[in-house]
Amino acid sequence: MTDCVFCKIVAGQIPSTRVYEDEHVVAFMDLGQVNPGHVLVAVKKHAANLFELDDAQAAAVGRAGAKIARALKKAFGPEGLSVYQANGKPAGQTVFHYHVHLLPRHEGDGMELTWPVKNPPRDKLEEYAGKIRAVL
Ligand SMILES: [Zn+2]
Repeated sequence: MTDCVFCKIVAGQIPSTRVYEDEHVVAFMDLGQVNPGHVLVAVKKHAANLFELDDAQAAAVGRAGAKIARALKKAFGPEGLSVYQANGKPAGQTVFHYHVHLLPRHEGDGMELTWPVKNPPRDKLEEYAGKIRAVL
């Protein structure tokens, strides 16, 4: 897409600090650096979100994410690592080109995620699972 900032990064039209690249993905340092070592893994061929990925892209993102996570552990020695990926504005997506955040974490680093659990009864879980299985 001509007006997509991540497509421009992939094409080298906007500079980035890259850490990894393969046939399907490019990984580069997030300009915001929530914590040192914060990396983004983006697909090369434009896909707005997870729903638009093909199987090869999805597999490549998983492989690259695990590889880079291991490198981040060695390079920065974080106490933890968060993987963030948002699809659509209500989910918090701000750049509409599929990407995954790999974010080294430390106790008290100020990063928070609200997780408002609902704890529905088992029959509700079965109902939800049935809806998913019906369309897989
Ligand atoms: Zn794009």
